[in-house]
Amino acid sequence: MEVPTGASQFDARQKRLRSRLEAKKLSALVVSNPANLFYLTNFRGSSGILTFGLRTPVLWVDPRYTLQARETACGVEVREEKGRLLARVSQWLANRSKGRRGYRVGYEDSHLTCAALRDLRQTGLRLRPSSGMIEEMRSVKDPDEIECIRRAGHLTARAFDEVRSMIRPGIRECEVAAEIEYRMRRGGAEGPAFETIVASGPRAALPHARASAKPLEQHEFVILDLGAILAGYAADMTRTIYLGEPSRRVRSLYGAVRESQERAVGMLRPGVEAQQVDAAARRTLARARLGRYFTHSTGHGVGIEIHEAPRLSRGQQTLLQAGSVVTAEPGIYLEGFGGVRIEDTVLVSDPTPEILTPASKDDWVIA
Ligand code: ZN
Ligand code: ZN
Repeated sequence: MEVPTGASQFDARQKRLRSRLEAKKLSALVVSNPANLFYLTNFRGSSGILTFGLRTPVLWVDPRYTLQARETACGVEVREEKGRLLARVSQWLANRSKGRRGYRVGYEDSHLTCAALRDLRQTGLRLRPSSGMIEEMRSVKDPDEIECIRRAGHLTARAFDEVRSMIRPGIRECEVAAEIEYRMRRGGAEGPAFETIVASGPRAALPHARASAKPLEQHEFVILDLGAILAGYAADMTRTIYLGEPSRRVRSLYGAVRESQERAVGMLRPGVEAQQVDAAARRTLARARLGRYFTHSTGHGVGIEIHEAPRLSRGQQTLLQAGSVVTAEPGIYLEGFGGVRIEDTVLVSDPTPEILTPASKDDWVIA
């Protein structure tokens, strides 16, 4: 199930990056983060270097990726290099910069290793740390990207709906996780976007528990956190199930998290500060006297990477923009007892946000 992607959006992204480079007075940018390479060129290899400057960008790859790069990469010249790519790139840039005063090269400082930076430095180029330029562009999705995430999200929700009927006391967490991943692949996913979480009983109090061999038991919460990757784009969704007849306490815990999550989703409109969404989710749980059990941030951007900009957490003043895709995922974790988390991947839009992972939150009890 390949989502068709024309070359045009890569041209458009490269054009936008070019004007950002000019604004920052950079002559060239060395791109090494694979997610950014994919975003700019459609190349999905795990390693490669893009030298992006004023003329044709060059994608440098090692022989493992030459064919793939020639077949898939858009808007670039592909060059094969054996050995240390950055040492070669450094030399090439140094030659180009000869006799040009003020030649400055940006590099992705939050991605390069120290050893790679040493290779890049060896010819004495004037380097400028420039992380975040492309990530900022990626935080607002174009229509092709939104469609990919929507399809990944619907596929994720469908896999959950299919597996829900299997959830009962006695089945092991790892069996449920395996079934979810199998269903996602059968539905056309390239795979899970991250290791599927199935955490039951006291294990549900661990926000990032892995699926273990523990069998599910009656009177337990089960947190399921799953996401498919499709055409290079991820979705991220969590549902919580309760096995058996819920007590009043259990109902109120679930109800409070659900209300908190729905409040957060309702705020995902352009112009809202990221921290306001976080505050709204937190306020709702605090009113239910559960604030201290909410131990992580409210959400994160989703796209080529499972965690990307913008972040919905305390102190984030970023204004949400139409076309951003973020999660809303408040949760509470009670040591020794269990936890509840509800998460959707949501498209920020006006007047109403669009939930891209439309699995039911009503059918949370399996009695
Ligand atoms: Zn998740
Ligand atoms: Zn998440």
